[in-house]
Amino acid sequence: MAIISCYECDGKVSDTAASCPHCGAPSKSNALIINNNLMTNSELLPPILERTQNRELIYFDNTSVIVSNTRVLTTSNGKTFAIRNIGAVQKRVKEAPKLAWIIIGVLVAAFGHSSIVAIAIGIAFIAIGLSLKHTYFVCLTIADIPNHAIQSTDENLIDKIIQAINQSVADYR
Ligand SMILES: [Zn+2]
Repeated sequence: MAIISCYECDGKVSDTAASCPHCGAPSKSNALIINNNLMTNSELLPPILERTQNRELIYFDNTSVIVSNTRVLTTSNGKTFAIRNIGAVQKRVKEAPKLAWIIIGVLVAAFGHSSIVAIAIGIAFIAIGLSLKHTYFVCLTIADIPNHAIQSTDENLIDKIIQAINQSVADYR
């Protein structure tokens, strides 16, 4: 057994380890070359290889976020989280102040003595309020510290990623 440097994070890894304990990158001989033709966008995929083969299994891949049996990888900012280090997976929501804009819009229209200009401004405020979107986060707790690992206004996408991470964490244990 020898200690080598991880090819992704430069952390110290045993050459017999199946994956890096720091970033979750699979050992190079086991690394699955991610073939975009194999992965359908935004589809939750079943593990495509047997775990006994000691290969990297892909649970989710939409090219910007990849969830495998060893890691969560965000290709946009290059952040990786090793599955083995994840203590909890949670969904968090940062609510957009929709109601505040709508209330201001109603008040402007009402206190402008219902003039055309006041109503127009009021409607504009209400339209802004309605167009604002909540932001959803995949929150990963690592060493008791919560990290907002992935964010999107697409709640369905966040739900799919969380489902894939939960599956990977469950299979890992
Ligand atoms: Zn590493």
